[in-house]
Parts: sequence; C-alpha cells; structure tokens
Amino acid sequence: MNYARFVTAMSAARKPSFIRTLTVLEECSPLSLISLAGGCPNPDTFPFLSASIQVKMASPIPELLTCIKRLQKRFHNPPNPQTDVCVTTGSQEGICKVFEMLVSPGDNVLLSAPTYGSTLNMLQPLGCNLINVSSDEHGMVPEALREVLSRWSPSEVHKPNSSAPKVLYTIPNGDNPTGVSMTEQRKREVYELARLYDMLIIEDDPYYFLQFDKPWAPSFLSMDVDGRVIRTDSFSKILSSGLRLGFITGPKPLLDRVLLHVEVSTIHTSSFTQLMVSQLLHSWGEQGFLQHIEGLIAFYRKQRDAMLGSADKWLKDVAEWHSPSAGMFLWIKLKGIRDTQQLIREKALEKEVLLVPGGEFMINSSEPCSFVRASFSVSSPEQMDEAFRRLSLLVKEAQC
Ligand code: PMP
Repeated sequence: MNYARFVTAMSAARKPSFIRTLTVLEECSPLSLISLAGGCPNPDTFPFLSASIQVKMASPIPELLTCIKRLQKRFHNPPNPQTDVCVTTGSQEGICKVFEMLVSPGDNVLLSAPTYGSTLNMLQPLGCNLINVSSDEHGMVPEALREVLSRWSPSEVHKPNSSAPKVLYTIPNGDNPTGVSMTEQRKREVYELARLYDMLIIEDDPYYFLQFDKPWAPSFLSMDVDGRVIRTDSFSKILSSGLRLGFITGPKPLLDRVLLHVEVSTIHTSSFTQLMVSQLLHSWGEQGFLQHIEGLIAFYRKQRDAMLGSADKWLKDVAEWHSPSAGMFLWIKLKGIRDTQQLIREKALEKEVLLVPGGEFMINSSEPCSFVRASFSVSSPEQMDEAFRRLSLLVKEAQC
C-alpha cells in the first residue's frame, strides 16, 4: 500500500532525531568506538539498578517486544508480512499518536457514536468532521457504512482533493460505552468496504481479553491482508491500568512514523514498566498468561451477571439494555427520560448513585441522550444491587 496519502502534513514534517541515528550507530560499532555523542546522564549515578532499565531512545525492551509479538501471532496471526509492533504508554498514547499522524483539519473520519469519550476529545480539536455510522447490538452496521460511503465513488478516492474518509475508528469488543461486540461477518463486510474505499481501520481493542463467550470473533488485524489495520492493545485491563503500558500493531511504515511522534513527546514508555511486564510475562509463559486471562474472564463474567440480575430486579419497568458479551460496561436506556445529563448531574448525587450520562459519548454532547453507562468492574454485587435500587427510584421520580 502507498501510505503517503494517509499521513498528515504535520506528521510528514516530523523527522527522525539525528542523535537517535547515532545511537543506532553506537549499537552496531566495535567496543573500541569512543562515543561522546549521547546526551544521557551517567546511569552509575542513579540510586537504583538503572543500568538494567536503560533503554535507547524510543526503542522497547527487546524481551517485551518478543513477548508481545508472540502474543499477536498466537491471537491474531497477522497475514500482512509488513506487520510490526511498537510499545506505547497505554493504548491511549497509541491512539492519540495515530490520529495525530492521520487526521488533518477538514478530514472526514468514520466511527460509531456513542463512542469512547477520550477518542472524541482527541479528534474534535483536530478539526475533523466526525461521521456517525449506525450500530446495533452486534456493532457497526455494514449497510449503514455502505450508505454513508455511497456519497463518494470508489474510483475517485485517490484524487488529491477527494473528501472521502481515509480513517475508520472502531472498538470491536465490549465497546465503551455500549458494551457491544462486533460479529465476524460484520467485520469481514466492514473490511471489504475499507478495501473498496482504500481506508485505514483503527481497531481500538483494550477489552479483547475480556470476552466472555468462546469462540472469539477474529480481529480486523487477523483479516488484514493489505496492511490497512492499525490495532491498539492495552495491558491496562488485564495487568494494571497504572502501569501505562500498551502497544500498537500495524504496517511498519506507519509504526515507524508513530515512533517519530513518540520521540518528541514521551521519548519512550517507562523502561521500568516495560521490564516489570516483560519479566512477569516470561515467568508466566504462555500457559500462565492464558490461566490469568481465564481468571479475569470468570471474574468479569460473574460481575456482569450480578449486574444483569440486579437490573432485572430493579430496572425492568424503567429501563432497557442488552447483555454485553465482553468488557465492563452496561449501556442503559432510561424510559421516559429525554436527557440523562441533568438527571445525573443534579439528582443522582442526592440519591447517592453515580453513572455516566450518555451525552458524554456523543459526537454532539449537547444533543439529548436517554442512556447512562454503568460499570460492573469495581463494585461488589451488593453495591450494584443497591445502586440500581436507587437508580430506579431516581427514574421513577423523574418520570412523574
Ligand atoms: N480505548 C478504550 C475504548 C478505552 O475504554 C480505554 C480506557 N478507558 C482506552 C482506549 C485507554 O486505555 P489505556 O489505559 O490502555 O490507555
């Protein structure tokens, strides 16, 4: 694929650091080379075992990279031989840098709203037009995507001034906030449309390992024969969110460019974090990792079931929802409530129950939205039950 048409002028202007080039030279040179080039402080002066956590600018700890590549092969087996991986400070950094690389003011970007609030917060200031592709309980609707794309002709998307969308963003499993997961059939149809209109797909999949039902639908990455999928993964939901460790998998030419963006911001993800995770994954081995994931799935499935049980008990008359098959969110429509912003902001605290009003996930947050997002990750079954009792009272009072 020719990636030049996807890259913003700002990103194209990012150049590799000359010092980084020297660092690579140092690594490949004989020991007799005396380098006065580097600008790093002397690690011997640091009060901890810094030598072991010293990594070169923007490069990951090789052992961690090996583990991640093994995971990606095991779970996605990307068919495109140009596929590479880079480490990021949480998947959030990855998504942000990818948008920075691909989205220019005035661009049309496709996504299904409601969507992850931070994605909206990243995209909106970039001055792009966010185009909503309808979704239902099985995720993005391919027919709706086809309809949106019919405004453009596939044969004209490569014209220099074409306004055809170049980027489609999706959260394919346990969507935040809707909890919805996309079926394999839908993914295949969306991928084919991306091919037809030569678009890149950003697959933001932090809840991949929290899928409750097997078999898991193949990822977009695993279908990507062309090299048009940029996938972001996260250790936040499976090891610890405070680690701030994620990774991007996608075509090497684009990942090399993402690293130029990283180089001028975080330089690289904390070596300490990388080393910790790398050692943990090595000590677990594949079996240990899989066992850990099975434990997580069992935990979150139980939490989901507890929340669904309480929803059935308290909210049947006042709300509607679908059972999520992945992730940690229940997306609840409150009957007779035109907009949940006011209800949550003004009345929920009085009743001592907190949820996120749906408007926070809409392209236009001032548009009325009758949904709320409830998370089943940290509250106990008893707390969820009491929370839904309070929510049902709140809704009943507001309906009067
Ligand atoms: N994408 C989605 C859909 C999320 O829900 C989150 C976390 N809330 C992120 C990305 C960011 O995760 P991380 O902690 O890996 O930066």
